[in-house]
Amino acid sequence: QGGTEQHEFSAEVGRLLDLVVHSLYSEREIFLRELVANSADATDRRRFEALTDGARALPEDAKIRINPDKEARLLTISDDGSGMSREELVSNLGTIARSGTRAFGQQLESAKPEDKPNLIGQFGVGFYAAFMVADCVEVVSRRAGSDEAWRWASEGKGAYTLEPATREKAGTDITLHIKEDADEFLDTWRLQAIIRKWADHISWPITILKEDGESPANEGTALWRKPKSEVTEEQLNDFYRHVTHNFDTPWATLHWRAEGTIEFTSLLFIPGSRPFEFSEQSRESRIRLHVRRMFITDDANLVPSWLRFVQGVVDTEDLPLNVSREMLQATPVLARIRKAVTGRVLTDLKNRAKDAETFLPFWENFGAIVKEGVWEDAEHRTELAGLARFRSSALPTDGEDAAKGWTTLGDYVARMKPEQEAIYFLTGDNEDALAKSPQLEGFRARGIEVLLLSDPVDAFWPERLSSFEGKTLRSVTQGHADLEKFAIEGEADAGDAADLDILIPALKEALGESVSEVRGTDRLVSSAVVLAAPEHGPDLQLQKLMRRSGQ
Ligand code: ADP
Ligand code: MG
Repeated sequence: QGGTEQHEFSAEVGRLLDLVVHSLYSEREIFLRELVANSADATDRRRFEALTDGARALPEDAKIRINPDKEARLLTISDDGSGMSREELVSNLGTIARSGTRAFGQQLESAKPEDKPNLIGQFGVGFYAAFMVADCVEVVSRRAGSDEAWRWASEGKGAYTLEPATREKAGTDITLHIKEDADEFLDTWRLQAIIRKWADHISWPITILKEDGESPANEGTALWRKPKSEVTEEQLNDFYRHVTHNFDTPWATLHWRAEGTIEFTSLLFIPGSRPFEFSEQSRESRIRLHVRRMFITDDANLVPSWLRFVQGVVDTEDLPLNVSREMLQATPVLARIRKAVTGRVLTDLKNRAKDAETFLPFWENFGAIVKEGVWEDAEHRTELAGLARFRSSALPTDGEDAAKGWTTLGDYVARMKPEQEAIYFLTGDNEDALAKSPQLEGFRARGIEVLLLSDPVDAFWPERLSSFEGKTLRSVTQGHADLEKFAIEGEADAGDAADLDILIPALKEALGESVSEVRGTDRLVSSAVVLAAPEHGPDLQLQKLMRRSGQ
């Protein structure tokens, strides 16, 4: 067998290691959560691979073992998972395949201290957390289905080594040479407490090797399978933190069992805060699909993308344990589960929306995502539009009572002037600029309310929704504003129409081809000119977004 090979880390890994080791010092215990989670993932992966390749079959007593050795100052985490080949060691541990470290570093700098440990899990850089407590990390791994094993070792300072090794069975051992100041992580009680806190719900058995032998460290029960009455809020919150990597408490917890044509148990959460980088992540739902407790996949898209902030578990009896990827794509069971889960979450949201004040934090975190549903989901469009909350020219944005700064479309319609036929809105990049826009002058002067829409998605959905409760939605930047029929309130003076007969031809001449039309408007009161979009076609904000994306 060959000797030891030296490898450099990719530049990203080097910088990342620096960040992790120096910025997260106070929350070091999460290294264990990350390593155990990786072992559990690898065990899930092997179970799944074994479905199509018998040579990778999982041993019946598959588990995750934690073995502290005080004398030698070593802590080893072993699993019976998929293991890693030589190439996988290089690509999984020597480079960062997914998220960039720059984004990670920026988030880390601005994050509150209590949020920092979240970032590690969310950015998928968990393995490197080991270097917070170890001055050398050794990985011995044998890929399931192969008889070759490899040792990967690094001090976390720019380079790592690789050499052939031996391992009796497939799986991985991660051995940490514990740092001088990290003795606590060699203590079985301390380790036990960390597992209880962070990994209690891992479904594979976790054991800690104590003086008197291996002792179970996690409960491993499928919390969602327990009757509601037997589940405490504390357990729910722990599980929430486990599945979301969040540190707060959920805004909503939905725990129910569906019976009848389709049977499943579900424990879902709507997070209490918006995850970091949420808008940059994929639009796919990550709700975990289990079959009879066993984890199958988190990419079965169990809810539409406008509900992708919902997290948790769906566990069904209606699929075989050995369900394959192809079968998942073909089975009608998933479509039925999807419909049932979507309906249930939507009903729950509608109920919660009745209390404007408690609904608001949810809307501020995830409203922009729900509005994507108004755009793309014809079936739920009207329902979702009914849930939506908006800023408006008629409402304060800085009052004591935050909920008073927001309106629903229904409430807007109820406040409309008798002669008003349209729901007016103005889209733009930010609320403050919108509230000050000259486009609103004519409307303000006439006491006509305008919705102020500042999320990017707002440029798109109003056209699809087109009307609400029989009232057309109309961008104030589009076409003629038709404000003649509304009387000006107060003292504002709309200017002298006669002057326009001279001004308009002069402006047309001066602006030439750069505008398609110049005309008088009742949109303005004190400003002199304003841009407007043609009656048909994209409004001003949409035109801007299209220009930005190069269209
Ligand atoms: P993530 O788990 O989010 O992918 P990590 O930094 O925690 O990121 O791990 C990087 C990769 O290393 C994992 O995706 C996996 O492929 C591999 N890996 C880590 N630990 C193990 C293990 N115990 N067994 C098999 N593969 C592992
Ligand atoms: Mg991980």
